[in-house]
Amino acid sequence: MPAMARPHGLEYHRSMLPDGIYLHRDEEAIWPASANALLVRDPDGAVLVDVGCGKEEVYLRLKDFLASHGLEIGDVHTVVLTHAHPDHMGAMRYLLEETRPRVLLHPVEAPLAAEPSRLNHTFDMALPLRYGINPFNLEKPDILEYFSNLCPMASADATHIIEPDGELELGRFRFKVVVTPGHANGLVSLFEPESGMLFTADAVGDVVAWYSPSSGGLTGFLEGLDRLAGLPAAFLVPSHGEISGSPSREIARTRERLLRREKKILGELAAGPVSFQELASRVFRNPMIAFFPGPQILRCHLDKLEAEGRVRCRGEEEGWLVEALQGVV
Ligand SMILES: [Zn+2]
Ligand SMILES: [Zn+2]
Repeated sequence: MPAMARPHGLEYHRSMLPDGIYLHRDEEAIWPASANALLVRDPDGAVLVDVGCGKEEVYLRLKDFLASHGLEIGDVHTVVLTHAHPDHMGAMRYLLEETRPRVLLHPVEAPLAAEPSRLNHTFDMALPLRYGINPFNLEKPDILEYFSNLCPMASADATHIIEPDGELELGRFRFKVVVTPGHANGLVSLFEPESGMLFTADAVGDVVAWYSPSSGGLTGFLEGLDRLAGLPAAFLVPSHGEISGSPSREIARTRERLLRREKKILGELAAGPVSFQELASRVFRNPMIAFFPGPQILRCHLDKLEAEGRVRCRGEEEGWLVEALQGVV
């Protein structure tokens, strides 16, 4: 009898998904429009976990994906949103024109989805100005404007709340809800114990997602990674990137990248105190990023380092000087 061909590479990883769960990976979209969606089939139709960004062509590709499974948008009876960011829920603007599914969100994400201008607070958009960083002379930086061309946002009202650290029943699956803040206070990862599938949303993926003090900070991010690392996952599905058969390696890689940034910050402080503004421009060489989200990320690191007694940030009158405390670099 001829040996069965073993699936390999991507095909192999896709084969890890349990029967009834399918991954929509929009290969044509580039970051940030590239958020994956999960389809869970059940006898009533379809559940979508995230719907992708608010560009029409992206939405049309989501519909093509559903069609490839013999489904129409009207078959989607439930939408689970991992968090209220434009690349994960922007397509709700089109979807809600065609159908009215149940919409599930974490309780702290629900008000943001209902009124997305509130994201200016969770993204700490005013923070750079506080440190005199305003290279584009903006009166009031606006996150929705920032995303308007890349990946327009939509609003959506939650019809149901996801119970933090509870369970979520979708189709024949029972997912454990794992909240992983840092990038978004109510960022939800989902673990399916039977297959060992860990859907990490933006907590782990190809790129390290940005983080800001009002979204849970670096400490929240690292604690979330601890929670994910504690699960007996067999494979990991990120929102941005491909399926990986090595969940613990992926989680560790994200942690290493975060700590490498911390090391760089401490390295920049080795020669003496530096202003917050100067430090941001040294850590984030790209001027766009040195304005957003660099200062927000830097503030998260300084919050952690200050709490650990490793740096001191001096106040406004001294121009927000940051210094390493002796013997810690
Ligand atoms: Zn996000
Ligand atoms: Zn994302």
